[in-house]
Amino acid sequence: MTGRTIVVVEDEAPIADAVAARLRSEGHRVEVAFDGPSGVALVDQVGPDLVVLDIMLPGFDGLEVCRRIQRERWVPVLMLTARDSEADTIIGLGVGADDYLTKPFSARELAARVAALLRRSERVHASGPTTGTVRVGSVELDAASRRVTLDGAPVHLTPTEFDLLHYLAVRPSRVATREELLEQVWGYDIPSGGRTVDSHVRSIRRKLGADVVRTVHGVGYAVEASA
Ligand code: CA
Repeated sequence: MTGRTIVVVEDEAPIADAVAARLRSEGHRVEVAFDGPSGVALVDQVGPDLVVLDIMLPGFDGLEVCRRIQRERWVPVLMLTARDSEADTIIGLGVGADDYLTKPFSARELAARVAALLRRSERVHASGPTTGTVRVGSVELDAASRRVTLDGAPVHLTPTEFDLLHYLAVRPSRVATREELLEQVWGYDIPSGGRTVDSHVRSIRRKLGADVVRTVHGVGYAVEASA
């Protein structure tokens, strides 16, 4: 993959340095900010292809940074969290975080997640050959415009939420495992734990109703075929 521009917002200098060094070694241009306000300013200034964002920051926190930088245009965000349990809050809030890593993480894991998010964002921007609408109950997904309506009223989904629901919706009544979803929606090429899929499903349910996606315990997720 050719080099991309990445902004890292992290107040712990050793972590910021390690993250920046690894991403530079992958060929990316990396800019670093150490608090919330300067992180937002840096993103405005350089228009990065991806943001690596710590949750606990001086000034205002990573959630607020995420809200502000997603206002103008979507940029993929990889959140850094202190605890795995924070992922639910971060992703469930639907502020636009696409994935998360729990500290401590390895440089290799970081590089793999960043590469997967960049690949996915290229696919989103290329707006592939998928066209047509698909219905899930009273929810309608339009693949070309990436618009979603619930009972005819528009609902905003993040690109990741859209891709996840769309993947399930075009395969009605078929159960997809978390591993399959991580591979197909997030583009992971290494098996990875984490609760990214669960957190995104929770966010989709919050926006579109609890029964839009069915949990198949011990297996994964599915949507029902529309009548
Ligand atoms: Ca921090």
